[in-house]
Amino acid sequence: MGFQTTIQRSVGTSGIGLHTGVASRLRLVPAPADTGILFRRADLENFPIAAHDSNVARVSYATSLMRQGVLLSTTEHVLAALYSCGIDNVYVDVDAIEVPILDGSAEPFVKLLDQAGMRRLRRKRRYLKVLKPVDVAEGDRRIGIYPANEFRVRCLVDYEHPLVGRQEVELLVNGPNFRQLLARARTFCFFRDIEPLRAMGLIRGGSLENAIVLTDDGVMNGPLRFADEFGRHKALDLIGDLALAGLPLLARVEAYKAGHALHTQVVSRLLADRSLWTITTEEPRSAASVQDRQTSEAVTPAPAAD
Ligand SMILES: [Zn+2]
Repeated sequence: MGFQTTIQRSVGTSGIGLHTGVASRLRLVPAPADTGILFRRADLENFPIAAHDSNVARVSYATSLMRQGVLLSTTEHVLAALYSCGIDNVYVDVDAIEVPILDGSAEPFVKLLDQAGMRRLRRKRRYLKVLKPVDVAEGDRRIGIYPANEFRVRCLVDYEHPLVGRQEVELLVNGPNFRQLLARARTFCFFRDIEPLRAMGLIRGGSLENAIVLTDDGVMNGPLRFADEFGRHKALDLIGDLALAGLPLLARVEAYKAGHALHTQVVSRLLADRSLWTITTEEPRSAASVQDRQTSEAVTPAPAAD
């Protein structure tokens, strides 16, 4: 504990982009300490685009990063997996404009991390510790980041739909909790939005294999993986966008009906005001470690239970 990590060995997968429909290969490659999470466009001589707030380009329906005119879309699901599982340093090589959507969840990325293994580096891990609250609101949507000695998120969605309604997810963000509670939750969209989104040039790679499609009173392609899969997916997206802080957070984040735009705005506000945070190598407080242990015990099936 307390040291930076990377992965043991390179691993890869491939698929199509949700919005562009373009086929791409993704490869995770071990990286040295203090690299952070660095995307590289493998088709453009490994042009680097850091997973950092300073490179956020577009935030409608997915988070896209851009540096010097080079774009990479839909970064949030792979980032959610890397950030939650505590991978500090890794190259994420993608040979096209968009990260493959795979099954619409973060589970395929978690499985890749299982294949890759984790390696501890000799450099101490640095945390971005929030000292003062910061929030952003837009109409009835809002998001706030508050001081805490651990990384915790609370995410609330509210859609007028018989299968959704109000769904609330709250968790301590770590590898076991992410795997158990969020990784499998898939992207979703409303059937009535499909044509307008297509007309905007979006979801060209969208299909019943990579997104839950909600009709007016049900889902087109059930069964759901969780009754509250929508709220869980929003929390997954939120964590993926918070990864753009560039370092592991010690903070409590609360989001109400937020989306990529608000997620990335609050990260920008936070980073822009140097009085709101500090960098520390001090580990999350013991309360969190106790909770972590309890959580991992709870996740491990008890042998006597059957
Ligand atoms: Zn998503």
